[in-house]
Amino acid sequence: MVKLEKVKAREVIDSRGNPTVEVQIDTSKGRVFGIAPSGASIGRHEALEIRDHKKAYLGLGVTKAVRNVPLLAQRLKGKQLDMIKADRIISKAAGKNKIKFGANATTALSIAVARADALNRGLPLYKYISYVSGRKLRMPVPFANVINGGKHASGGLEIQELMIVPVKAKSFRQATQMISETYHVLKQDIIKKIGKESANVADEGGFVPKIANTYEALSLLNGAIEDAGYQRKMKIAIDAAASNFYYIKRYVIDGEKFFGDGLIDKYQDLINMFPVISIEDPFAEDDFRNFKMFYERIGHRIQVVGDDLLVTNPERIKFAIKEKLCDTLLMKVNQIGTVTEALDAAKLAFDAGWNVMVSHRSGETEDTFISDLACGLGCGQIKLGAPCRGERTAKYNRLLRIEEELGKKVKFGWQ
Ligand code: PEP
Ligand code: MG
Repeated sequence: MVKLEKVKAREVIDSRGNPTVEVQIDTSKGRVFGIAPSGASIGRHEALEIRDHKKAYLGLGVTKAVRNVPLLAQRLKGKQLDMIKADRIISKAAGKNKIKFGANATTALSIAVARADALNRGLPLYKYISYVSGRKLRMPVPFANVINGGKHASGGLEIQELMIVPVKAKSFRQATQMISETYHVLKQDIIKKIGKESANVADEGGFVPKIANTYEALSLLNGAIEDAGYQRKMKIAIDAAASNFYYIKRYVIDGEKFFGDGLIDKYQDLINMFPVISIEDPFAEDDFRNFKMFYERIGHRIQVVGDDLLVTNPERIKFAIKEKLCDTLLMKVNQIGTVTEALDAAKLAFDAGWNVMVSHRSGETEDTFISDLACGLGCGQIKLGAPCRGERTAKYNRLLRIEEELGKKVKFGWQ
């Protein structure tokens, strides 16, 4: 339980240089913070992020959302609260999709409240998450996005993310080393094969090679895994973010147009050729028919992750479980707007036998909440970008420190 003595909010900037909401809370035990991240490929069904649409920051200011924080905090004032109670009050006041106060305001406030509650119980944040979720601590396998396309980069690739996954690492520390080495080998390969200008990085720290199609991007990535000597220890994951290349029943990718079944065949070919273990959003967010068909045909070979499909929303997750659309929840707190509701979403997924992957957003900050969240939830998977750019490395470094604190006995991974 915690009494929130003083709650303050301000505009700060994220990794794209856009403003976002930071909340600062004073309690009798000290001061804590929470910062809302922000997406670029935002699902249509996500909770609403309120922007000012005025001249400042080219319309992207968040002063309205900042002003909403004290209005929400008023409802929490003077009460002894834990995070769950506080989040229920915040969520009720903000209304459906957090439309009244903005998910950027509620997310930053909820993260700060979680930290305040943890501090007042004398628990590190990851242990607090484990306590409130009833889950065992585990270090997550990092899914590192090293080739960027779609809305996160200005190259030609429609597929948004190609990730490396060090499944055979023994610890988070070893996984980080494997990722860093492969990332640098990939950079050298790109410079050698394509040219220096293709080694610039995009929003999540991945490269943006001038490349013709998905097959070539996967060949390049697989070659780098082999060149780094990790062919038996490292796999590949894809986030297609397919809503972004879906135009009236057809998917336009790699210079071709596909109906759903054609795209399933294309994914199947790629899975046959490369060590792909996970595909996120292979179809558009409301294309349930093709999700279902894809999961039926390919779900036994790889994990199928729902991001824009599920938007960390319990109602959409229940539907996807019932209809057998996928088997992994991508968990983003700001898609639903409070930590408690995101934990509720994760519980539904775990209870259905699904995997859960905690995720960053393409617009991030130095806030490392997701590192503690992934460890405390014991889900064994985290998507956190390339080992490059401070807002991404902050998450790796926080997990390295957590692993050191927990010592050798802590489990690693989801299998
Ligand atoms: C994603 O699509 O999984 C992602 C991290 O991107 P964004 O934050 O832009 O939604
Ligand atoms: Mg995604």
